[in-house]
Amino acid sequence: MVYEIIIIGGGPAGLTAAIYAGRARLKTLLLEKGLPGGRAATTEIIENYSGFPSGIGGPELMQRMEEQARNFGAEIKTLCEVSSVTLKEDYKIVAANNQEYSAKTIILASGAQATRLNIPGEKEFTGRGISYCATCDGAFFKDKKVLVVGGGDAAVEEALFLTRFAKSVTIVHRRDTLRAAKILEERVRKNPKINFVWNSELAKISGDSSVKEVILYNKLNNKEISLEIDGVFIYIGSKPNTDFVKDLINLDSKSYILTDEKLQTSIEGIFAAGDVRHNKLKQVAVAVGEGSIAAISAQKFLEEHL
Ligand code: NAP
Repeated sequence: MVYEIIIIGGGPAGLTAAIYAGRARLKTLLLEKGLPGGRAATTEIIENYSGFPSGIGGPELMQRMEEQARNFGAEIKTLCEVSSVTLKEDYKIVAANNQEYSAKTIILASGAQATRLNIPGEKEFTGRGISYCATCDGAFFKDKKVLVVGGGDAAVEEALFLTRFAKSVTIVHRRDTLRAAKILEERVRKNPKINFVWNSELAKISGDSSVKEVILYNKLNNKEISLEIDGVFIYIGSKPNTDFVKDLINLDSKSYILTDEKLQTSIEGIFAAGDVRHNKLKQVAVAVGEGSIAAISAQKFLEEHL
């Protein structure tokens, strides 16, 4: 069996590509290493996706996209992790879970994952007080003291979310101005449960069976302070999931996929969309737009080449 399109990744970019490909009546397979939805499904509420004036829950939006993709005939395999993509004559071969799938075109929509700080205690306490997903783990910290690391949209948004449970939320940021959108900054500054530690980095996390203490290093005065903390949420950006194609296609210096304006990668017939691609903005709306462009480009490629 040869698929016309194999889509790797089931976040907003991959699912939208599947909607367009299915609707074009192309034989489409989507492979997702976990469950569909990607990181958007771990966001409690998405407020800036057009058409939902009161916002929409991340899981609900993603379930709707999945249902729409299935309705148009896309086949979706979950818990199916791709380990490599290779070229064989006119076909692309995708290896996943000890099986091989053949395709005429591929759309890479494998997204990105949370960057680690790589500091003492981080590995040891991950899952025991350290988390990269407030939506998933926030409720464990009812009436506790938590620390959020980072100054971008994700850090600020998740700090606000954590105030529902936590007694206090301390945001530690390496500069003295936030990178986050102004509307989020306004909210965070108004919230009485949130306080800031500026110009500082999280240097060490320690505890016993769970996190108990953090050491923050102030970059201006070179002093360290210790805080008693029960939980640490790290939001310092992301790293693209491109290991499985790093020897096949051209990546930028941070391992994001380079494409042309049709979203075609350095290999003909392989396209990329969403957070995994070298682009300026990581947003659901952008991923959706790119998923549709990549699917239409793949469709045109099939018409012209095969
Ligand atoms: P981001 O925008 O890249 O912000 C990362 C933050 O972490 C920055 O404040 C950065 O500091 C800090 N940081 C990076 N490396 C660090 C390190 N080693 N130690 C300490 N701090 C470090 O990442 P993000 O917040 O995950 O957002 C990713 C993308 O998703 C963005 O495009 C964002 O707009 C989007 N997003 C949007 C929404 C929304 O629209 N509601 C929600 C979530 C995410 P500096 O500022 O000093 O560089």
